[in-house]
Amino acid sequence: MDYLTDERRLAMKDRIIITGLEIFARHGVYEEEKEKGQPFVINATLETDTSKAGWSDEIDETVDYGVVCTFISDYMTKNNMNTLEALTNQLARKLLKNFPTVSAVNLEIQKPEAPIPLPFKTVSVQIYRTWHKVYVAFGSNMGDREDTIEEAIENLSADECIRMGRKSSYYSSKPYGDVEQDDFTNGVFEMDTLYGEEELLIRLKSEERKAGRVKTVHWGPRPLDLDIIYYDDEVYESENLTIPHIDMSNRDFVLAPLDEIAPFIVHPQLGLTAGEMLDNLENTYVES
Ligand code: ADP
Ligand code: MG
Repeated sequence: MDYLTDERRLAMKDRIIITGLEIFARHGVYEEEKEKGQPFVINATLETDTSKAGWSDEIDETVDYGVVCTFISDYMTKNNMNTLEALTNQLARKLLKNFPTVSAVNLEIQKPEAPIPLPFKTVSVQIYRTWHKVYVAFGSNMGDREDTIEEAIENLSADECIRMGRKSSYYSSKPYGDVEQDDFTNGVFEMDTLYGEEELLIRLKSEERKAGRVKTVHWGPRPLDLDIIYYDDEVYESENLTIPHIDMSNRDFVLAPLDEIAPFIVHPQLGLTAGEMLDNLENTYVES
């Protein structure tokens, strides 16, 4: 059934396209560029489902491109950046955050009068940004566990680049490994995020630190542990990060809550749902 390639599927999504939006603004590395200003030209493609407005003919059921153009213009004129890279990145994220029905954006900012001492037509930076669906496993076995977890979730909800989704119930589990310590409170939550994989890990680690995690005894006691379980359906490996989480299929305290909130999601390498992985475990001790 799943015969479409990613490119084909992407090409079939609805889009609203803004081309050649001209804005006079003050961005650039040179002082003169910030003082005098210069013209910028913006091309933006917004992925959004237009089918509702396609039937109802109501402007409220789609993305109003007039409002988008004004939003871009306000952002461009109220900020002064050095690089087009930072400008496009931050503007793309603001667009996604402020227009919730836009699922992805392709943004190009051109600088036709950039200070280059040679004849040229224009220079530009073009980027693609989209929301990513992520599952995070949480665990705590020090202090007031539920308070710690709730505070972290509150902090993450307030983050511009995160939209929190479902959260599982709390599960209690016996500690893993050989270190003598209290029981854990565990669970899983879902979020949409604009952070890349490594950015998200840094963001989650900052939350662990805020909760007072200092010691990094492997499998040792901690006020808060936040692990990335799934990031879209990606398989990702770096020095700091393995996605899907390398040990998830052995951890009932991850699989049980994951099965509760995402019963149909399939592990991209194993081809199994959380429920199926749970069935494959010989013994489970986790309690809801
Ligand atoms: P654990 O979560 O396995 O109990 P730690 O929380 O001490 O162990 O994690 C140690 C390191 O694991 C982190 O510093 C991080 O760089 C790395 N790591 C690898 N993959 C992941 C992942 N998917 N989510 C979170 N951390 C990960
Ligand atoms: Mg961890």
